[in-house]
Amino acid sequence: MEQVFDFFRRLGDTSDWPPRWYCGTWSDFHGWLYIVSDLTIWLAYMAIPLILLRFLFVKKGVPLHRVFWLFGSFILLCGLTHLIDAAMFYIPAYRINAVIRFLTGMVSIGTVVALIWHFKEAVGLRTSQEFEHELMFRQQAMQELSRSNRELQQFAYVASHDLQSPLKTIENYLSLIDVKYGTDMDENARKLIGVSTAAAGRMRVLINDLLNFSRVGSTVEFVPVDLNTLIQEIQADMYDDIQSSGARIQADYLPTLNGHPTDLKQLFQNLISNGIKYRRKNIPPILSLQVKEQTDYYLFSVSDNGIGIEKQYYDRIFEIFQRLHNRSEYYGTGIGLATCKKIIDIYGGKIWLESTVGEGTTFYFIMPKVIKTVHHYAQTYSLHSVN
Ligand code: ADP
Repeated sequence: MEQVFDFFRRLGDTSDWPPRWYCGTWSDFHGWLYIVSDLTIWLAYMAIPLILLRFLFVKKGVPLHRVFWLFGSFILLCGLTHLIDAAMFYIPAYRINAVIRFLTGMVSIGTVVALIWHFKEAVGLRTSQEFEHELMFRQQAMQELSRSNRELQQFAYVASHDLQSPLKTIENYLSLIDVKYGTDMDENARKLIGVSTAAAGRMRVLINDLLNFSRVGSTVEFVPVDLNTLIQEIQADMYDDIQSSGARIQADYLPTLNGHPTDLKQLFQNLISNGIKYRRKNIPPILSLQVKEQTDYYLFSVSDNGIGIEKQYYDRIFEIFQRLHNRSEYYGTGIGLATCKKIIDIYGGKIWLESTVGEGTTFYFIMPKVIKTVHHYAQTYSLHSVN
């Protein structure tokens, strides 16, 4: 132990040894070959960590960057051992030399351990060629997906659009039969006509909802939409429901979003109309629309004091045609929340809810301040066509 204390106390002391030139017999050529070679190795070893450092600064997000740092330190210390070896020809700093070698040894072992530790991870890293292949594959899949999506959208649109006309005929003829022969028919026949008319009405709502659902995301031209005006419009459209239920709607001052007016209207209208529809008996609905501004997005919330939703259904209700009540309790098609989710997904946001059964529900959703759909990304980064 005494030797250790003595060693560090006299760390910079060079009086115990002669400079290396005077140890043994060096010819000038031999000595200078040694010195120049050591200095060359030191310079190269200094340059390597500097290049690595620059690489880490230029190329942000390099994987395994700690291994780079460790490897850089290892090379730097190796360089120092060569520098001190050259210096020893004039300054016999054997103790400092030993310390540098010790540090180099430790860092070398650390580097070996890190390399073995991260070997599998490093092997798993993709080369730029592999990335290129994956990108091509993804682009191909994306184009395939958007093609089949377009087809599906078109199919839903055409089917629901074309269904409207025969339905209109059925509705018209039913009302004609009722007007023309209503008085001649018995109670049972009139009931049958009534049930058929109601069913045709429900089908019309369903077709319209499906049409709206299939239209979401079909327009990519965005315009500034003042959400305060939009909410006023929705309230005007829902005037009858609001009056008959005695609903009160309180809204924060809302921002203007760059989006598609119909999408945004559907989103808010579905949430507001659900808040009114799923009210508790004899309790007038109170709805509150709030917004919190964050750095990159707005956090909206639509709360009601209605019947609430059990936790086990929090995900299910966003799926198309999923309803928690039958028609006799609350009328609906089960498309409203699926439409909201589709809009928010396309706009790059997120929707979720919190609810207490018998007290009310709050739907939250995030909307990025700069809304970018996949079409916008494709335009911005001009993804090349894959054939
Ligand atoms: P619809 O209202 O046409 O049935 P939605 O997709 O809008 O379809 O809603 C799906 C289901 O989620 C509804 O059937 C209802 O059970 C439930 N739900 C939606 N909003 C609310 C709400 N604010 N309060 C309670 N239940 C709700």
